[in-house]
Amino acid sequence: GVRPLIAGNWKMHGSLAETASLAGAVREGAAKAGAAELLVCPPFPYIHLVAGQGGLAVGGQDCHAAAKGAHTGDVAAAMLKDIGASYVILGHSERRADHAESDRAVRAKAEAALAAGLTPIVCVGESEAQRLAGEAEPVVTGQLDGSLPDGFAQAGGVVAYEPVWAIGTGRTPTEPDIAAIHAAIRANLAKRFGAAGQGLRILYGGSVKPGNAKAILALPHVDGALVGGASLVAADFVAIAAAA
Ligand code: 13P
Repeated sequence: GVRPLIAGNWKMHGSLAETASLAGAVREGAAKAGAAELLVCPPFPYIHLVAGQGGLAVGGQDCHAAAKGAHTGDVAAAMLKDIGASYVILGHSERRADHAESDRAVRAKAEAALAAGLTPIVCVGESEAQRLAGEAEPVVTGQLDGSLPDGFAQAGGVVAYEPVWAIGTGRTPTEPDIAAIHAAIRANLAKRFGAAGQGLRILYGGSVKPGNAKAILALPHVDGALVGGASLVAADFVAIAAAA
C-alpha cells in the first residue's frame, strides 16, 4: 500500500513560542510515529520557523490562485515553496465558509499549487443537513469533480474527506459510513484519472483522536488522517501517527 500521511492542521492557533515548542515536541516524537509521513501546517507567520529542520514535512493552509500580483493579504504558492513548504491544504470547509471559496476557486488554487511544485491536499465533505438528506456521496463526488484540476493525479495530489459536522465536534461517521465515502472517492479518482487515481492518498479528517485513530486508519482506502485539535498536542498527534 501507499505510505500513510498524518497531517496536522494547526489552523489559527499558537504563538511564536508555542509553535516552536509544539514543532520541537512533534519532531522528537517522530521516531515513535512508525512508517507514516508526518506533516504539519502552521499559520502563515510560523511556517518559516517550522520548515527546513528535517524530520517533518511542512505545509500551508491556503494559497492564492495567482502566481503573484496585487492581492493584498494573500500568499502565493511559490512563496510557500520558497520557505520550505511541500504541501498546501486547499478548500478546507472553514475556508469554503469563511471566505466563500467555491469548487472553481479551489480548483484554481490547486492549479497554482501544482505549478509551484507543492502537493495540494484538497478537502471535501458534506454538511450535516446533506448527510441527513442522504446526499453525502453525491455532494463529495461533485466537489471532487469541481475542485480537482487535470494534473492532480500525475502530481500525487491528496484528497481529504472531512464531513463538516465531524470537525471539532467529537462526532465521527460510523466506520461503514467512512469506508463507503472513501470507496466512492477512490472510484471517482479511478474513473477520472485511471491508474494514477488508484495510488492517490485519501485522508479522513474530523475528530480524529488517539482513541479512534486505529479503527479509522484500518479502513480500506483510508490512507492517513487530517487532524485538527489533536494535532495541537504533540503526544496525541504522534500517537495517531503510530496507529497508522
Ligand atoms: P478536528 O480534528 O479538530 O475535528 O479538525 C479536523 C480538521 O478540520 C482538520 O483539517
